[in-house]
Amino acid sequence: MEIIRIPRIMQDTSDDYVLRGRKIGFVPTMGALHEGHLSLVRRAKQENDIIIVSIFVNPIQFGHSEDFYKYPRDIEGDNEKLQREEVDIIFMPEISSMYPEGFLTHVKVEKISERLCGAIRPDHFKGVATVVTKLFNIVKPDRAYFGQKDYQQTVVVNQVVKDLDMDVEIIVCPTIRERDGLAMSSRNAYLDKSQREASIVIYKCLIEASELIKSGIIDAGYIKKIMHERLLKEPAVSGIDYAGVYDHTTFNELSEINGDLLLAVAVKIGETRLIDNILINVKRKR
Ligand code: AMP
Repeated sequence: MEIIRIPRIMQDTSDDYVLRGRKIGFVPTMGALHEGHLSLVRRAKQENDIIIVSIFVNPIQFGHSEDFYKYPRDIEGDNEKLQREEVDIIFMPEISSMYPEGFLTHVKVEKISERLCGAIRPDHFKGVATVVTKLFNIVKPDRAYFGQKDYQQTVVVNQVVKDLDMDVEIIVCPTIRERDGLAMSSRNAYLDKSQREASIVIYKCLIEASELIKSGIIDAGYIKKIMHERLLKEPAVSGIDYAGVYDHTTFNELSEINGDLLLAVAVKIGETRLIDNILINVKRKR
């Protein structure tokens, strides 16, 4: 396994693979790797010749008051995990080589970037779209792997790829959960014991909502109300950014339940912001 830190060297290395007809599978991450990340690596390994994982805590996707500085970092642990998965290259650039002085260009996806997480974190998806575009230009992957856990991110990235004619296939992989249902996340490390126990309310709330929907309820406003009540009953939940039923492509809030739906939650447990979602399909007879 090779560690590359300089974008130009990563580009030259990828050029070489492309020239030799090797298919490159790419997993972009911010490190502090867990089984969720590794599931993407394993999927990439099944489908490509060369596996490249980037580890880069991208400053421009964090708001000023957010957790960029305290975001968990575990370079040694990450290296060990990726070595075990037989990854070919870790791309680990410095901030100054990704955003050198004079950097001026950003990628902004309209509308879908402004809903849900984007409504709470105004420049977040601009930062994501920009770094993903740069990483794709540097790594030159045939396929790139993302988790459904960050569902809105996958939709934004797909939009960038489509609108900017990028020649890369986006593969969305299922959310990997702890035994009790909590979606794995690097940020789970922030939770103390009682917060960790309380955090299962997020997945429980999603499952209960999906069961209510399957039982025939069509009023999305009612489902939203039940979701909020369920979350607020848990004293460790210090705030709800959003919780409800959304169109899975526009992220507009729905009033009636029909077709493909996104059930999504973003809450704060203490100071820690956690998100989760499930997609469901409901066919109503009219
Ligand atoms: P991050 O390091 O949080 O930026 O995540 C890197 C990639 O891993 C993103 O595509 C995430 O959606 C994905 N990911 C994070 N957590 C999970 C999870 N629990 N299951 C599946 N994919 C995940």
